[in-house]
Amino acid sequence: KRRKRLSEKEYIKGVLAGDRVVLSQAITLVESALPSDQTIAEEVMAAILPYTGKSIRVGITGVPGVGKSTFIERFGQLVIGEGLKLAVLAVDPSSQANKGSILGDKTRMETLSMDKRAYIRPSPSGVTLGGVSARTREAMLLCEAAGFDVVFIETVGVGQSEIAVKGMVDFFLLLMLAGAGDELQGIKKGIIEICDALIINKADGENTEAAKRAKREYANALHLFPEKGNSWVPQVMTCSGLTGDGLEAIWEMVQSYKEQMLLNGYFEENRAEQRVSWMHDHIGYLLESTFYQNESIKESIKQALPQIKSGNVSAIKKARELVQIFINQIQSGEK
Ligand code: GDP
Repeated sequence: KRRKRLSEKEYIKGVLAGDRVVLSQAITLVESALPSDQTIAEEVMAAILPYTGKSIRVGITGVPGVGKSTFIERFGQLVIGEGLKLAVLAVDPSSQANKGSILGDKTRMETLSMDKRAYIRPSPSGVTLGGVSARTREAMLLCEAAGFDVVFIETVGVGQSEIAVKGMVDFFLLLMLAGAGDELQGIKKGIIEICDALIINKADGENTEAAKRAKREYANALHLFPEKGNSWVPQVMTCSGLTGDGLEAIWEMVQSYKEQMLLNGYFEENRAEQRVSWMHDHIGYLLESTFYQNESIKESIKQALPQIKSGNVSAIKKARELVQIFINQIQSGEK
């Protein structure tokens, strides 16, 4: 099916008016790899920029099966119940590797997705993690310009994606399960260090006691980490996405975090740093995509492949050669 093309003005007007159909079309536009779309997307992003930044951005991560969809479904209803508009964006780099996306293969967040106060957008497919996170950042800004007060960015805790998400949110929430004794196993130390809250999910029924125990153990373990520069002590809590227990306390914590960080200046400082890395990320993306779309580079790579595969030619030497060809071409074009 062909996508309906709007004009730059129509995208801008529609997004700012909070038109959900146009919002979706605008997100599709920023996800497009077509250079002609990218040019319009850049203009649209620049025009909506003054209307962004007012939401609270929350990253939610955890391994598959930890209960993210169930949690977001219920937590999301609590948020919209407060009269806030909520957007949920997914970052799922696996959707390109194996076709059945972890996040996309089931009907998720059924009630939330039917609600007018919520907007749910699945992960773009067919792009690299770098591409996914770049597009997600733009989608987030579009949602803010469209009037959403809260943005959840959901990611599967299986790799680098949570680091990418950490770089675009204000608050990073890690969902975990109570294990049997070896709670600290299987979870990378780095992830615990970057989270602002560690939530033991599925704290209901028979799990309740184990969850409480896990909470104590994690709280003790977190004391061993150095204090963060923003003086926030990561919180450990239990909840159940199924029964809703503990969700209000989590929402209160997110709000109190925002208040504290606004007061001590960290909120804006963090966002300023994020904008700088956003620019650097995009420079990298632009350089790389321009390089790989270049016809003579494509041809040279094709020719070099057999030698690289057989090991007869040094891969790093060839890489430098290719980049040099590209640079020469740009310089000769300038003259
Ligand atoms: P996701 O893969 O992280 O999105 O996890 P899901 O939300 O799909 O949940 C995985 C499984 O755990 C499903 O069978 C859910 O019914 C179950 N589940 C999710 N949240 C809870 C909870 O709070 N308590 C209990 N007991 N089960 C839950």
